[in-house]
Order: sequence, then structure tokens, then C-alpha cells
Amino acid sequence: MLVLGGTSQASELARRLAARPDIEATLSLAGRTAAPAAYALPTRIGGFGGAQGLADYLRAHRIDAVIDATHPFAARISANTSAAVAAAGLPLGVLSRPAWRPGPGDDWREVESIEAAAKALGASPRRAFLTVGRLQAGAFRAAPQHWYLMRSIDTPGELPPNCEVLLARPPFLFDDEIALMRERRIDVLVSKNSGGEAARAKLDAARALELPVVMVARPASLQGPMLEDVEAALRWIEAHRQLRGVSR
Ligand code: NAP
Repeated sequence: MLVLGGTSQASELARRLAARPDIEATLSLAGRTAAPAAYALPTRIGGFGGAQGLADYLRAHRIDAVIDATHPFAARISANTSAAVAAAGLPLGVLSRPAWRPGPGDDWREVESIEAAAKALGASPRRAFLTVGRLQAGAFRAAPQHWYLMRSIDTPGELPPNCEVLLARPPFLFDDEIALMRERRIDVLVSKNSGGEAARAKLDAARALELPVVMVARPASLQGPMLEDVEAALRWIEAHRQLRGVSR
């Protein structure tokens, strides 16, 4: 098995697979996080060199099946993966958390890109909480009239001028999110629609504080059977093992 990771769900799947001596699996990480969490599963780090490089890797390592458990916004690796597994004739399962949906009391404005999110903040100065990933913060340089609180795991590269950086790793708790937003006098939250529980508390906090949310919609790049959680991924792996008669 090859598991393409970079999400908390992928980490959980890696933990579960590490406890299964009957399944030989490798976790693949892009290498974006400076100090990734340690995994019991054998881990390789770094790009494959496009779809062709990944196809070569699948062949060289005699991979039977692939799970794409990358982030829903990691569009390039997902497109490469579906091309490489199609070329190799291998099964592909896509482990992806369902997108978040607004509920009663939510005030969301959905936009299609980070650039559109920066525009959606409007002309008047605001205090925005950015939870969009460190590589995307540069887009907010186009809206320097706002003050920003930028939260990310590693130090961001490009930043807008009036910006405080907060380094932190999920999961985040509701009470802490409320306290942070109150303390920094946040008046708008900017988020990507990543889905999942580890980062959801900020949305519940925004609802409780009656704050608007600018929500960047997912790219429509995910292909293959959609597996919503780790249990579904393990069932999918089992079904393919039986189909292929793989028993190691
Ligand atoms: P991306 O734009 O889709 O991928 C860019 C390149 O990075 C890929 O073409 C591939 O290089 C390499 N790559 C990406 N994921 C890889 C993996 N799991 N194993 C080996 N190589 C990988 O991805 P991204 O948006 O930069 O995200 C990078 C990683 O961070 C992903 O693993 C993703 O799960 C995680 N992540 C992303 C986000 C986000 O919002 N984008 C948020 C949280 C975590 P080659 O073409 O050379 O193979």
C-alpha cells in the first residue's frame, strides 16, 4: 500500500496500519512541515517528480493499491495520483473529510480562491483571523488595509504588512478559539473548507461570537472512491486485499 499523507486523517490511518503486520504500507509526505510528527509506519518524504515519477515509484515498489489521504486543497498531488494509478491499473481510494456546511446562525461568504477571499474582506479596515495555510498568506498583501492574525504550523513566507503570526498545530478547542478571537478583537474569520474535526472549533467559535466567515471552497479535483473516515479506508483496503488475493 502507498498512503499519500499530510493530514490528520492520514496520520490516523498510518497509526492503524502500523499495527497491522499483515499489511505492508508506506506513508508519503511532501516535506512541507519542518518537523513532521513521527510515524510508526515506514515514511518517505519529498515529491515523486510529477505523475510519471509517481508511476515509476508504484512500479519499482510493487504497490498494489493507493490511498490518497492528502488535503482537499492539495490539487496537484491528487491529479498526479489519479493519473499514475490509472496508468498502472491500480485501485485508488480517496480518504477525504466531508466539506463543512454552514448551519443555522452561521454567516458565511463562500469564495472560489484565496485571492477572492482577500477581496471579500472589503475596503474598510478589519481585524481578520487567517487560517488558510502559510503558503497562502501572501495573497493578503493585496489588502494591506486590514490587520491580520495568521495561524500556521510553520513560519509563513510572504505576509501582509499588519500581521501577527501565531504558530500552533491542531487540534484546537472551542474555548481557546473563543478566547483567542476575543483577545485579538477579531471581526472576521477566513478559512479554507478543509472539513474535519481537528480544525472545526474556529467555526463554532465564530458562530457563537456572531462573526462572519469568508470560506474558500474546495477545488473540484478529487477522484476515486470517496472514503469519509479511517474506518472506511480500512474496509476499502480489506476489500481490495481480498479481491487481489494479497496476503503478506
Ligand atoms: P500540491 O500542490 O497538490 O502538490 C505539490 C507537489 O508536492 C506535488 O506535485 C508533489 O510533488 C508534492 N507532494 C504533495 N503531497 C505529497 C505527498 N503526500 N507525498 C509526496 N509528494 C507530495 O500540494 P500542497 O497543497 O503543496 O500540499 C503539500 C502537502 O501538504 C500535501 O501532502 C497535503 O496533504 C498537505 N497539506 C496541504 C494543505 C493545503 O491547504 N494545500 C493543508 C494541509 C496539509 P511531485 O510532483 O514532485 O511528486
